[in-house]
Amino acid sequence: MELAELVARRPYPAAGLLIGLTRRCPLRCAHCSTGSDPSTREEPDADRLVRFVGTFTEEDRPDVVLLTGGEPLLLPALAERLSALARRAGSRTALLSGMFFARSGNRRGGRAAVVPPSIPPPIPPAVLRAIRGVDHFSASLDAHHEREVPRADVFRALHRIQEEGVPVSLHLTGTGASDPYLADVTRAVEREFGGRVPCLVNEVRPFGRAAAWARPARTAPDAGAVSPCSMAAWPVVAFDGAVLACCNQDTVDRRPVPAHLDLGHIGVDDWATVRRRTTESPVLRMIRTVGPAHLAARYGSAPPAGSYCDGCRALGGDAAVAAGARAVAAGAAGALLDLTAAVREARDGAQGIVRRHGCAAYAPLVGAGAARPGTGGRTAPRDVR
Ligand code: SF4
Ligand code: SF4
Repeated sequence: MELAELVARRPYPAAGLLIGLTRRCPLRCAHCSTGSDPSTREEPDADRLVRFVGTFTEEDRPDVVLLTGGEPLLLPALAERLSALARRAGSRTALLSGMFFARSGNRRGGRAAVVPPSIPPPIPPAVLRAIRGVDHFSASLDAHHEREVPRADVFRALHRIQEEGVPVSLHLTGTGASDPYLADVTRAVEREFGGRVPCLVNEVRPFGRAAAWARPARTAPDAGAVSPCSMAAWPVVAFDGAVLACCNQDTVDRRPVPAHLDLGHIGVDDWATVRRRTTESPVLRMIRTVGPAHLAARYGSAPPAGSYCDGCRALGGDAAVAAGARAVAAGAAGALLDLTAAVREARDGAQGIVRRHGCAAYAPLVGAGAARPGTGGRTAPRDVR
């Protein structure tokens, strides 16, 4: 599975499932959205996760499961088990890593060592088994990561993973289109991999450790503005096993979960229940089609306050909003409305999605990857429609 296929499924409700395997991470990146570090031990119960993913069936399962963290490869046996279970039902799995295992310093008792570029890194066997088990492998890379794991080490590890036949990509983060780091690193990726490794380029968001200095992603909405949120499409398993309808880390970490974003818990619910709550909730359908600001302005008992997401979270306890959403978005008409919004969001494929939600200037890089015949192994960006 190439990166563009995964991204192109993002607008479709319950087409994917995000699982945070652990908040723990051996690295300490300054911009970490989950506030991860080596000492954090917050993670969902492994047996419950296995049970939950075991409830996928061929008829009812997400298309894509994304294993994240923290660092999911701190639990390689669990990642391997979940991928195998998901695959048995027909789901494909992707994994996003911070690449701690690629550090060349790892080879000599933690001391940095100069490693010739031609020598592939010895990936620990359990980690390599977990990587072989997924359908797509993504590595995080940006200026903060590079202070933890050198770029050359990440590139060497990606070459090694490609040798295993696993499609790879890079998740790059910068401050925006004019960030010189992004220009430099994307040139380096092109030089190193000849256009065969796609990149998802995002801007730093003010969550976790980045909250102190990154600029907000979305500020207070105009009253009544139609501004759909497609981040409410894929369920997210949080580190305490709660399942939420939103992947905004700030929302994922808050307790109690706002009622309209609460999809259940892996300890008691199965995938079919979570999928049904995701796709059939009238409030979620309205958030995905017109957005929280419009919903609040149209039906809310109080004017929306704060940021875009503050306004959304405040909808949870508002009975008037729930009733208004039910009147418009329940039943078959609501399902059609929801599907129409997803199709519209996906109309320009993965590139269109990244143009709207990532760093637009680098959107074409999401489509690099599969080599076309006659291009000498190099690729032109491809559309995924
Ligand atoms: S690798 Fe990822 S999870 Fe780990 S500290 Fe860095 S940003 Fe956070
Ligand atoms: S809090 Fe609401 S508006 Fe914000 S990302 Fe989550 S679902 Fe979307």
